Amino acid sequence: MTGGPYQVRDPRTGEIERALCPPTSAELGDLAVRLRAAQSRWAALTPERRATALLAWREEIGAARDELVAALTADTGRLTESVIEVDGVSGMLERWAAQAPALLAPPPPRQATIPGIEIRGAGVPYPLVGVISPWNFPLLLGLIDAVPALAAGCAVLIKPSEVTPRFIAPLVKTVTRVPELAEVVAVVEGDGATGAAVVNLVDAVAFTGSVPTGRIVAAAAAAAFIPAFLELGGKDPAIVLAGADLDRAGSSILWGATTNAGQSCLSIERVYVEDSAYDEFLRLLVEKAERLGLAYPKPGDGQIGPLIDPAQAEVIERHLADALEKGAVVQCGGEVERLGGGRWCRPTVLTAVDHSMLIMTEETFGPVIPVMRVRDAGHAVELANDSAYGLSGAVFAADAATAMAVADRLRVGAVSVNDSALTAFVHEGEKNSFNASGLGGSRMGPVSLSRFLRRRSYLINNSTRPDPWWH
Ligand code: NAD
Repeated sequence: MTGGPYQVRDPRTGEIERALCPPTSAELGDLAVRLRAAQSRWAALTPERRATALLAWREEIGAARDELVAALTADTGRLTESVIEVDGVSGMLERWAAQAPALLAPPPPRQATIPGIEIRGAGVPYPLVGVISPWNFPLLLGLIDAVPALAAGCAVLIKPSEVTPRFIAPLVKTVTRVPELAEVVAVVEGDGATGAAVVNLVDAVAFTGSVPTGRIVAAAAAAAFIPAFLELGGKDPAIVLAGADLDRAGSSILWGATTNAGQSCLSIERVYVEDSAYDEFLRLLVEKAERLGLAYPKPGDGQIGPLIDPAQAEVIERHLADALEKGAVVQCGGEVERLGGGRWCRPTVLTAVDHSMLIMTEETFGPVIPVMRVRDAGHAVELANDSAYGLSGAVFAADAATAMAVADRLRVGAVSVNDSALTAFVHEGEKNSFNASGLGGSRMGPVSLSRFLRRRSYLINNSTRPDPWWH
């Protein structure tokens, strides 16, 4: 990258702590060679043995919980979500350790339609998987693809975001305490240049980040002729129909839009409310939003942490300025505040918005909730689908059948019904990202693991004749 090494900044104070310390390209190359060499031993272990190693890692992460939470809090400035991340990763390791052996069991042999030929199937892991992750949930998103890849028998080279590198050292410490894993897991500091180098060293890449970077990674992966699993940005809609429980909808949408200060791919970023429910919903939403405070001056205060990356704070400011210039009305919040050297944004509810505004069409990645009045369910669906993205969405209605009929028409990969952003916690439902929100197999659900395997068939001629087909 140009301009010298990336400077690691404290999101609460704005102070520069140190320069990033990426490996040289020779060191990175050597690391890839070492990981590949160890992978064949790892893949030769039984799935049960690998699952045992994942559970041992879970123990080490549990033992290092306080240290990891402290590092993540230093990285991101928020506390509650850091605890959720560490505990979420423990749950993820437990789930994959429990599920992987059955998922990796070879299918029973079967007869081909040609007599005498038996087919046996196997999954062959990609030797080395690169994982490139963003800053908004550094630990969780660093491991969400790495763990199923490891369970499948791959080695992993993880390159987290340059914005949040402090958690790497305590994480690596937990890895080194599980000797088999230490050989096949590496986590390196680095910015986009290191990420680009990783793509050229691996056999498959799992990337989580923005759409523009995702496009670059997809092109680099195509040139390297490796698969890329891309989980990118979103502009998730919520639809609130007449007859829905508005109190519940207000609380849920507020949660879905402001957790992690809205810095989440699956944040609710726009709300469409049916005419007759609009006034009451808005009243409830604003009342609830005004009750949330900033986690300032201490991380344990309030609910809304700092904006982690100043570049993203500028995006939020740009979207707000654009909306206000075009006639949007601020119901609460409404600005990026500078406090103690950090940047903060209180929950912001906007009305009088429309799709000419960036706040309704581009990913804002802040605790901003633009609310738009719609005529009916059809109008809501039309606007919800008027998007370059297609990650997920939410529908609130009087009854499940009405909600499901609307959910069915949304061009997104997951719909929370009578709730918001459930994919933050529920990882068992298979989903693809629609439109520009991603590409590649489902990260969620059991099939997530199969992304890291190539299928192989053994075609066995059991007939006494050499070729039963034409002899
Ligand atoms: P980003 O695209 O700027 O960076 C993501 C990662 O890519 C970082 O590690 C970065 O160093 C690396 N990178 C940058 N240039 C690269 C290159 N040329 N080659 C390889 N790697 C490169 O994203 P960000 O700002 O860190 O994260 C926020 C974005 O991530 C948002 O758009 C958000 O919606 C998205 N996100 C998506 C999901 C999902 O599951 N769909 C989850 C979380 C975040």
